[in-house]
Amino acid sequence: MKIEIDGNSGFCFGVRNAVEIAEESLLRGEKVYSLGPIVHNDMEVKRLLSLGLISINNDEFRNLKNSKVLIRAHGEPPETYQIANENNLTIIEATCPIVKKLQSKIRRAMNETHKCAGQIVIYGKPGHAEVIGLMGQTRGEGIVISGPADLGKIDMKKPVCLFSQTTMSVKAYEEIVGLIREKMRAGGIKEPEKSLIVHKTICGQVSNREPDLQKFAREHEVIIFVSGKESSNGKMLFNVCKKINPQTYFVSTPGEIDRMWFEGINTVGICGATSTPKWLIENIRDAISKISEQK
Ligand code: SF4
Repeated sequence: MKIEIDGNSGFCFGVRNAVEIAEESLLRGEKVYSLGPIVHNDMEVKRLLSLGLISINNDEFRNLKNSKVLIRAHGEPPETYQIANENNLTIIEATCPIVKKLQSKIRRAMNETHKCAGQIVIYGKPGHAEVIGLMGQTRGEGIVISGPADLGKIDMKKPVCLFSQTTMSVKAYEEIVGLIREKMRAGGIKEPEKSLIVHKTICGQVSNREPDLQKFAREHEVIIFVSGKESSNGKMLFNVCKKINPQTYFVSTPGEIDRMWFEGINTVGICGATSTPKWLIENIRDAISKISEQK
């Protein structure tokens, strides 16, 4: 059985950067807390825990004093930095530069939308850490939409400044844009193109993977998609593969592999999310190789 790993899979630049920053601090022997799991991958979180990185939740963060806290790639709202200041916490900044840029774009857009009584709309997963960080830039005035069912939250008669969470599907974002324009037109807005300002803020590290993964999924009989269950882009990229190749399976650990998936199969492709470590993808490959040898 031929087993191939997708060359583009593994950590994106932002996650790799955050993990390296954490490792550098830990290697200096520092005690470091991570506000939330550093990456949406339990296996990698466990590895970093074994090096000493302690994940804490928001309540624990509020009660923490005089310590070092790492801000992960998803970023945080301004309130987090205020608490850190009050509690004498040293922030280790590992927010992805692309997310940082998006946060400041939203802050600037807030001032503009105030002038024209418009609305900031963020297309993303409600409650996702990145979305909480982005909403924080709007001082809670932004509107989060996660799909067509949420469009009723927007006042279609007022100008809209639209942003996307960095890990959403490009196609789904385009569909949302089309639907908002339609609803604006139906509401009497003659030139929705002027009333709706669309910011293309899906990260290239995710959007560029979509066409590559489609090709990869087509080229193999079975696809093993490796990701943490909490990963937003993991779910999205898994669906990209599944649509092309119905024999696509989602696994988070080697223990979840089912040998039945490979009965009568000659080619297997392994790929993953932007939060899937390369070492885990390689472990999955080794587990499949063993199954192949026993066939
Ligand atoms: S997906 Fe893009 S924006 Fe998100 S952490 Fe990775 S590089 Fe940064």
